[in-house]
Amino acid sequence: MQTPIKIAVVGSGLVGSLLAIYLRKAGHTVHVYDRSPDIRKIQFSGRSINLAMSNRGWKALDGVGIGNAVREIAIPMEKRAIHLVDKLNFQNYGQEGESIYSISRGILNRKMIDLAEAAGAEFFFEHKIWDVSLDDATLHIGETERGAWEDKKYDMVFGADGAFSRIRHRMQRQSMFDYSQEFLPIGYKELNIPANADGTHKLDKNSFHIWPRGEYMLIALPNLDGSFTCTLFMPFEGENSFESLKDIKLVEAFFEKNLPDTIDVIPKLAEDFFKNPTSTLVTMKCYPWTYEDKIALIGDASHAIVPFYGQGMNAGFEDISVLYEMMEKYGDDWKTVFSEYQKSRKPNADAIAELSYRNFLEMSSKTADENFLLQKKIEKSFSDKHPEKWIPLYSRVTFSDRPYTEALAIGDYQNSIMDEILKVENIAEIWDSKAVENKILELLK
Ligand SMILES: Cc1cc2nc3c(=O)[nH]c(=O)nc-3n(C[C@H](O)[C@H](O)[C@H](O)COP(=O)(O)OP(=O)(O)OC[C@H]3O[C@@H](n4cnc5c(N)ncnc54)[C@H](O)[C@@H]3O)c2cc1C
Repeated sequence: MQTPIKIAVVGSGLVGSLLAIYLRKAGHTVHVYDRSPDIRKIQFSGRSINLAMSNRGWKALDGVGIGNAVREIAIPMEKRAIHLVDKLNFQNYGQEGESIYSISRGILNRKMIDLAEAAGAEFFFEHKIWDVSLDDATLHIGETERGAWEDKKYDMVFGADGAFSRIRHRMQRQSMFDYSQEFLPIGYKELNIPANADGTHKLDKNSFHIWPRGEYMLIALPNLDGSFTCTLFMPFEGENSFESLKDIKLVEAFFEKNLPDTIDVIPKLAEDFFKNPTSTLVTMKCYPWTYEDKIALIGDASHAIVPFYGQGMNAGFEDISVLYEMMEKYGDDWKTVFSEYQKSRKPNADAIAELSYRNFLEMSSKTADENFLLQKKIEKSFSDKHPEKWIPLYSRVTFSDRPYTEALAIGDYQNSIMDEILKVENIAEIWDSKAVENKILELLK
């Protein structure tokens, strides 16, 4: 397919390690650099977030034959468990048999590095990349920014070095490079629900648990060892905020009042709350993603999004699927490979950034809203009867590999139809009737 060349990948995160496997499949020499120690040799601490893997992620993993190895460390979640203050509702994510999968980021990353090494990629940990020369793909590596640097020349460099990429930093200094970065006024903190003494899960294992409370929310995803990793998303400042929860008493009182069913299952609440860091959430957009046939950005380095659609890693993995398609199509013409890759991915990255932001609003406030739940029921019922006419937005994003841009556009169109349907008199009583079904069919014309 291509003449073998010498490629450096900066970043051994999820995207960098999967990219290394794909580049090895194409026959290239691959060196992966990471500033951090080898994740396989350290104990996890602080942020061990688990991730939801869905269709786009699986497609990229299956594309190099490692999907099944990853499935072994994944737990299917076929529904949302919505914990309201006084009741628990369940809502299926998709059709029968459709699930998203909970995977520990750390365990997945370790596995991916093992698989990349087995595929022949060479890893260099504790190597900090401070800069790159764009014209000749030379990495500048050193202990400190102002100390001595070692230069390593490659034929090509991929920046898979995350939202605060050094490779992108260099590209930003080119003229005509667009860049924007926006932080949410909301941060997140990890908490933990340990396993029962017999190793079983304290909550339903096959659910993505959500405690929606308007401006803040708690979520919990299952781990293989019987525990759940919880993430509390909350404003930094204001009435219900990280700032307002200053001491143990306030934290305990807050959880007792607003998240009462978590009290028994999060035994180390106050300890974890004050021990674990509060982290920020950023949306980063930039363009172009490539420089000549020398440098390309991929994953969070090119599009960091807020995590509310569970698509950041999935989108990064899809970048790799598309890049590889272009490599197969254009062979050694790397300039065209790069330009077609970025043209194809950029609008989709912007679309999933928008959808992710909107999903924050949906998860935090709308999942507790009667009208929203009714809308979901109507959509589900109609889509069960007419699967060819109505695929819900969530399914288009999560259980499909059609472009995110298409999901966004069709989602907006479907919402405009649902706005009309929710205006129908007595809709709460007749939502499942033939009349409502016919009205949707009519509006769809
Ligand atoms: C709270 C939260 C929940 C999320 N949930 C989901 C989810 O459910 N599903 C989903 O698909 N996505 C999710 N994401 C997004 C997902 O975590 C990211 O999209 C994904 O990790 C990006 O991978 P990456 O390899 O591009 O970057 P990173 O994971 O950031 O990896 C970058 C790597 O580059 C290395 N590096 C950085 N700078 C340098 C340098 N100068 N020199 C050498 N090495 C360097 C770093 O050490 C790191 O190993 C979530 C994100 C957050 C914050």
